[in-house]
Amino acid sequence: MRRLLAGGWVVTMDDAGTEHPSGWVLVDDGLVAAVGGDAEPEADERIDLGGAVVTPGLVNTHHHLYQTLTRARAQQADLFTWLTELYPTWARLDAEAEYAAARTGIAEVALSGGTTVFDHHYVFPRGISGLIEAEVQAAREIGVRIVASRGSMDLGESQGGLPPDSLVEEVDDVLADTERLADELHESGPGARVQIAVAPCSPFSVTRELMSESAALARRLGLQLHTHLVEDAGEEPRCLALYGCTPVEFLTELGWLDADVWCAHCVHLSSDGVAALGASNTGVAHCPTSNLRLGAGVAPVRELLDAGARVGLGLDGSASNERSDLLFEVKQALLVARGRGGPAAMTAREALRLATRGGADVLRRDDLGSLEPGKCADVAVWRTDGLEFGGADDLVAALVFTAPHRVDRLLVGGEDVVRGGALVRADEAEIARAHRVQARRFTADG
Ligand SMILES: [Zn+2]
Repeated sequence: MRRLLAGGWVVTMDDAGTEHPSGWVLVDDGLVAAVGGDAEPEADERIDLGGAVVTPGLVNTHHHLYQTLTRARAQQADLFTWLTELYPTWARLDAEAEYAAARTGIAEVALSGGTTVFDHHYVFPRGISGLIEAEVQAAREIGVRIVASRGSMDLGESQGGLPPDSLVEEVDDVLADTERLADELHESGPGARVQIAVAPCSPFSVTRELMSESAALARRLGLQLHTHLVEDAGEEPRCLALYGCTPVEFLTELGWLDADVWCAHCVHLSSDGVAALGASNTGVAHCPTSNLRLGAGVAPVRELLDAGARVGLGLDGSASNERSDLLFEVKQALLVARGRGGPAAMTAREALRLATRGGADVLRRDDLGSLEPGKCADVAVWRTDGLEFGGADDLVAALVFTAPHRVDRLLVGGEDVVRGGALVRADEAEIARAHRVQARRFTADG
């Protein structure tokens, strides 16, 4: 069926930055068939957008969905204190709780315009199974694409790592389970709905051996590689003590800086570090809200972009960015770039590009991130007739400056996932109720 979304301000995010202020998008068989601003083509269904802004669906490049179970904890802690306080609570995780947590986080992402959800899951309590399967099921039910990573930690407290020994795994178990999940769930090629990535947690919770074996496994299976990198100022001294080099040098030595890798945060980078990420075409998941919340600093995003690094936006986990709102993250990226580099450091459209083309580039998905013929019909429609848009002529810039907004309509592969600001395939109130039941098992005094 050919569906025509007409009468909107279409932001294509193509290479030239083409926009059609009075435009349309034709969707056919799950793909964008055509985009334009002139005579409308024939279609089976015409949807009048009433002057809404139309963007590609937003892409999230870093999250920890399970953390919706533990919001607003360790409220004034820095990263390491926050992690140390939360690990014991997270050790109670099981598949039922993960499913409830993932449904909540994914619903929030979808309602903020996100069509592709990445999740970095690295907490695998002993004897618990089905965690990745639970989040994949949640994404399928709500209707978004998911890149789920099989994360890992194997450097426990007794070995000089940060996590408690009860939360670390054996290298062979991690690798075998990652390969099993890739065999069972990973789809390759355009239009993939479910993908698996390999994601050891961070240099302060993973051994050199697991970092290196993870890279080898990912390359053998053709999967993307992900980890946290220099989120906090405390990471470099810790890495120097453990390995005798900086975190960027450590990743370089392990063959981790490459075009099949992306790293979350990248806040505390020297100019050499920025250059190394750019020259190697390594991706970066920029997570401004979480970085501000933990007082970790602000990533040098302008510098990374100028150096040629691929940069997308990440919400990070819901225990350090309590709100999984991707459009709000676009605004945060704009504001922190300007706070760091002045008003010319980033435009509203550049910020929006980070969350669309940037995110798709980071996940190496050339079928996503723009509204061009042949791309997946992942589309976000944003109403512009509300109070906050009054007085704005440039509605695209206003979408960013006045964020957050709930998305009005969201298409994934041409199918409605959100309509009239509500989930189509799931019940938001029921998700919230079921989540409350599970979250009671994760109270701070547990
Ligand atoms: Zn994270």
